[in-house]
Amino acid sequence: MEMDQDTWYQCDRCTACCKWPGDVRLEDNEIKNIAAFMKMETQAFIDQFTRLRTNRSGLSLIEKDNHECIMLDGDVCLINSVKPEQCRGFPNKWNFPGWRQVCEAKAIPMAQAKTMGLVQDS
Ligand code: SF4
Ligand code: SF4
Repeated sequence: MEMDQDTWYQCDRCTACCKWPGDVRLEDNEIKNIAAFMKMETQAFIDQFTRLRTNRSGLSLIEKDNHECIMLDGDVCLINSVKPEQCRGFPNKWNFPGWRQVCEAKAIPMAQAKTMGLVQDS
């Protein structure tokens, strides 16, 4: 989907995106970082918190029976400071048709968001 270059969407922490069914993709370096953050051996973290992605091309965080991400505790992400790129990138770097109906992020004009220091370039 083409991204809106003129608007920055500031997450309102509604947690809807942590409750959608589906993969939360993990890259190798992210797995190591998250395991270290949780003070776990990498393999123990993989065994306890990950599963194969739907397309079997890598690992995903597992989800609870209600489809919430395993790392969501109430309305808090337990690994917020080291959360995967997939989580960081939504909805400004990737999103999907209809996302606006479920995401409560605030729309801020891009110039203003940059002035406020909200826009991360990485
Ligand atoms: S890792 Fe954190 S931000 Fe990402 S889906 Fe899970 S709870 Fe949400
Ligand atoms: S759905 Fe949107 S506002 Fe809610 S937590 Fe995810 S990015 Fe933030």
